[in-house]
Amino acid sequence: MDKFWRAEALIRAGSSPLPPPSACHPLDDKRFSPALSIHPVDPAPFDLVLRVHTNDYLEQIRTGSLDPRAALKLGLPACEALLTRSRLEVAGTLAATYAALTDGLACNLAGGTHHAFPDHGQGYCVLNDVAIAIRDLHVTRPELRVFVLDTDAHQGNGTHAIFAADQRVFTYSIHVGKNYPAVKTSGSLDVELPRYVGGADYLEQLEATLAPAFFDFAPDLVFWIAGADPHEHDRFGQMKLNDADFGARDEHILRLVTRTRTPTAILYGGGYNRDREHTARIHAATVLRAATFFRA
Ligand SMILES: [Zn+2]
Repeated sequence: MDKFWRAEALIRAGSSPLPPPSACHPLDDKRFSPALSIHPVDPAPFDLVLRVHTNDYLEQIRTGSLDPRAALKLGLPACEALLTRSRLEVAGTLAATYAALTDGLACNLAGGTHHAFPDHGQGYCVLNDVAIAIRDLHVTRPELRVFVLDTDAHQGNGTHAIFAADQRVFTYSIHVGKNYPAVKTSGSLDVELPRYVGGADYLEQLEATLAPAFFDFAPDLVFWIAGADPHEHDRFGQMKLNDADFGARDEHILRLVTRTRTPTAILYGGGYNRDREHTARIHAATVLRAATFFRA
């Protein structure tokens, strides 16, 4: 939870029109006008969550009654507070989705919990916020073509599984092949990279594979699960991107979606840097870069 508060503080400091020098974060040397505003949310209603997840699973989380194997897979202590926290993340993604459709770009300062399946959680992901938002959109706009762009270091297996048979959803994931999750679930396009891939090779693969898939599918909306865990000092990502590589990654994607005027909801995804403050700085920098493109 800590990283969420730290990142928000950095975003507020970075988006302030006249930030005091001590409040400026170190990744970006620009000063931003307030192109972004931050809004609180209430937990997502259960009827929306139930469009993706089973009632039995939600009850197991709420009452803390996951069996030991399921609890180990999830990696977080199941209880009502965890379910509420996860519903807040879903609500943030829903709000970002509808704001993106109105304004072009919007961010949830959390979310991107892509390992969650309908009836179980994995890898610290309780609810699949992107899947819930897509299902909600498709109730009123069934024709909407959605591109899930997942640059978290791990494969978005839960989202892949949920939309495996849905031709309206394209799931793209660029990740380390031999890393968590051990058992992969095929998406529309999986770009598997070697362990400890460097920034130059990563960016070359991203640039070679993303745009062709994007233009071929021609989405009406993008969910971008950014991920801070490709960083070289991350404990679990097994990639070697440095801060400059993150800037190049973000700018490539932001240029693609803004030049094509494709509404895009940006979500955090994972981040487990040895220095937790650094994880917050990576998330915050992505949001602040988005703000600069929003203004462009
Ligand atoms: Zn990850």
